[in-house]
Amino acid sequence: MTSVAHSRSEPIRDPGHGEAFTGHMISMDWTETDGWTPPQLMPLAPLPVHPGTIGLHYGQVAYEGLKAHRRSDGRMALFRPRDHARRFQRSTHRLAMPTLPEDAFIETAELLVAADQGSLSDDPSHSLYLRPFMIATDVSLMLRPSRGFRFLLMAFVAGSFFDPDVEAVSVWVSHDRVRAFPGGTGDVKIAGNYAPTFPAQRQAIAAGCQQTVWLDAVERKYVEELGGSNAFLVRGRGPRAEVVTPELTGTLLPGVTRDTILTLAERLGHPTRTTRVSLEQWRADCLDDTVTEAFACGTAAVLTPVGKVVDPVGGDWLIGDGRPGPVALKLHRALVELHHGVLEDPEDWCHVL
Ligand SMILES: *Cc1c(COP(=O)(O)O)cnc(C)c1O
Repeated sequence: MTSVAHSRSEPIRDPGHGEAFTGHMISMDWTETDGWTPPQLMPLAPLPVHPGTIGLHYGQVAYEGLKAHRRSDGRMALFRPRDHARRFQRSTHRLAMPTLPEDAFIETAELLVAADQGSLSDDPSHSLYLRPFMIATDVSLMLRPSRGFRFLLMAFVAGSFFDPDVEAVSVWVSHDRVRAFPGGTGDVKIAGNYAPTFPAQRQAIAAGCQQTVWLDAVERKYVEELGGSNAFLVRGRGPRAEVVTPELTGTLLPGVTRDTILTLAERLGHPTRTTRVSLEQWRADCLDDTVTEAFACGTAAVLTPVGKVVDPVGGDWLIGDGRPGPVALKLHRALVELHHGVLEDPEDWCHVL
């Protein structure tokens, strides 16, 4: 391992949006003959990239996103790193890339957090967002899988995306474009899944919305995801209101946050259900006040209440009174407390350093 020039860094006070990078990165290379090299911690720096690199042309690139939080006792903890490691294995497998062992994934994450935790201020709404990714490094324009790969891990300081005092977001329904389709790659985190969503994201923003509602590719009927987050609905009101999310059909990303919310909701006394949710049912159930809340969730966005659906075909509707609802706020608080070691952690999801 290379020595570290600046192991202590100044806290980043203004995290901005995904650009407040920390000082280091970790790099490992893989070849067919030697497997993985040991992880190297080094200052974050540009990569020399040959323009004929396979990863650039054919998208043989997979990634993950996980967070490290500073707990109330001052120690750092990665949230569910083993689940992220396993999903990364599924993503790389889908693109004919080598497997990074779970323990190596976690070891590199520990290494980077130890080196760069000084960048994280004591603002409890900030966290370290870790971005592990694997790229195909062979230089060839033949349409074939690479034989050499690089694993990289970098991080940025993330602010809180959602302020409970702020309004809920609006979402825009994409009827023309789809994000994922049966047999495709919607259930893994690969680079090629995201640029094709950018035009719809632009349409959503032009319509005054923050996110896209993705429908299923076959019937164009069922809600799958909200932008790059998983979708939730709340049916009914009060302490026994039901928490519902679209079932994993193979075309939506099995979010670690989605799974965490399902568990937390049950623990707080809310029945949960995973099922197919049609756009029409969502609309009808909001109009007769059966569905009272909706929210999006993911590692980056944590939990974002949705107040309005803008549907260019069927017309717009409000969810509840259009403001963040009590179940979303309660689940958001529980999730943040779990991240910070305040809430009990019977599943051992917090990986304390
Ligand atoms: C990453 C991601 C999510 C959220 O997954 P988490 O594991 O909760 O971060 C949801 N949908 C898509 C498309 C994603 O890329």
